[in-house]
Amino acid sequence: MNHQLISIVCPFFNEQEMVSIFINEIYKILNQTHKSFEIVCVNDGSTDSTLEQLLLEKKKRKEIKIVNLSRNFGKEAALTAGLDSSKGDVIIPIDADLQDPPELMLRFLEYWEKGYEVVLAKRNDRSSDSLSKRITAKMFYKVHNIISTTKVPENVGDYRLITRKVLQSLQKLPESQRFMKGLFAWVGYKTAIVEYRRDERKAGCTKFNGWKLWNFALDGITSFSTILLSFWLYLGAAIASVAFIYGSFIVIKTLVLGVDVPGYASLLTIILFMGGIQIIGIGVLGEYIGRLYIESKGRPIYIIDEIL
Ligand code: UDP
Ligand code: MG
Repeated sequence: MNHQLISIVCPFFNEQEMVSIFINEIYKILNQTHKSFEIVCVNDGSTDSTLEQLLLEKKKRKEIKIVNLSRNFGKEAALTAGLDSSKGDVIIPIDADLQDPPELMLRFLEYWEKGYEVVLAKRNDRSSDSLSKRITAKMFYKVHNIISTTKVPENVGDYRLITRKVLQSLQKLPESQRFMKGLFAWVGYKTAIVEYRRDERKAGCTKFNGWKLWNFALDGITSFSTILLSFWLYLGAAIASVAFIYGSFIVIKTLVLGVDVPGYASLLTIILFMGGIQIIGIGVLGEYIGRLYIESKGRPIYIIDEIL
């Protein structure tokens, strides 16, 4: 299998401290495999010296390919750009911060040689993440997997090995809102799971704040489930039934006992409650319609400035 090519795909967004550490580490590991490889580095519109650092590395080493995007498109789009530009028989997406240990690639490759098309890396320990990130991540996987038909394996990131066959299937999914974990899960194939411990970032800082993560979670859920849309039908039906029963009760009571004026508090409470419920319903509709709107424009997922 020595003539086969391994592609490492890595998105870089303001990772100047990481470039040379990352490249050195990858070379150290991949040289042990005696296979040929390429490293596809996507510069996702970095505003620091990431691109210059990448160019310096490229001068020293012929395996490096730089895909320079025209601006910051976000991690999912950058990863897609890298995957589309990769030439390998197997492709390994990895983050630049080395939170996912590159040594694991050797085990990925063993599984691949055993005939697996996908090898996932599963974090069995997230103690390097903050408590709030761990709790929200756990909630996300729970909710997502209850309401979506495509189950996303828990604590599995984008770090994995896929064969070209899997990549070609992935490329048939045209959506512009790319929740990669979900898309990877959707295409299927014979999958192995390797467990590992997630480290702290080696340098630099996370590019995801709470708001970005919230929207990322919404992308995931809206991409793979429409349950939140159907939910309102059942909630509406339930409330209408209760209202009907209560209404009948009031009518009968009035007929039997005569007119009874008090009731201002309960009336106001019900009106406000129903108002709130309706606005939430409209909000959920809005989330889907907004995504539909963006999708309907059919804009490209990313724009490449140049490939170096
Ligand atoms: N990244 C990117 N574009 C962005 C944000 C992040 O290409 O808009 C890259 C980043 O450089 C890193 C990877 O995505 O290689 C993961 O980012 P980060 O480590 O900040 O995410 P976290 O591990 O905190 O979820
Ligand atoms: Mg990270």
